[in-house]
Amino acid sequence: MSAQRVEEAIEAIRASGSRVTVDRRAVVEALDRSGDHQTAEQVAEAVWVHHPDVNLATVYRTLELLEKLEIAFHVHLGHGPSRWHLADDVHHHLVCEGCGRVIEIPDSTFDPLRKRLLDDTGFVIDPHHFSLSGVCGRCAAKAGR
Ligand SMILES: [Zn+2]
Ligand SMILES: [Zn+2]
Ligand SMILES: [Zn+2]
Repeated sequence: MSAQRVEEAIEAIRASGSRVTVDRRAVVEALDRSGDHQTAEQVAEAVWVHHPDVNLATVYRTLELLEKLEIAFHVHLGHGPSRWHLADDVHHHLVCEGCGRVIEIPDSTFDPLRKRLLDDTGFVIDPHHFSLSGVCGRCAAKAGR
């Protein structure tokens, strides 16, 4: 949680030519305050703590705007609703199919694969949009694998 993070995001909205409204600022603050992996509904609940008059549709629209401006992004962790992140913290996700645990991994993990796919196919991967499913070490140990 940091005021600087919020101000950088607000500055990016302004720099894009979009208006910085009270509602938009409230969504950015909620994203920062509530931490990673919140659903849009959870972001809205965090907004309502301080701004109960902001409606859910506005929260959705603001998240979409923030994504277009590359200030925030969403990721799919397994089957549930998409989860939101501020974009200054780039990492990727492993989701355990056994216990549901989410493990964060650094972007550099994908470097060899990224290079290989680019060389072989010209395809540029965007690995933060989806998570990788599997079985975590603890669940594998429990299953005796
Ligand atoms: Zn994450
Ligand atoms: Zn597990
Ligand atoms: Zn998506």
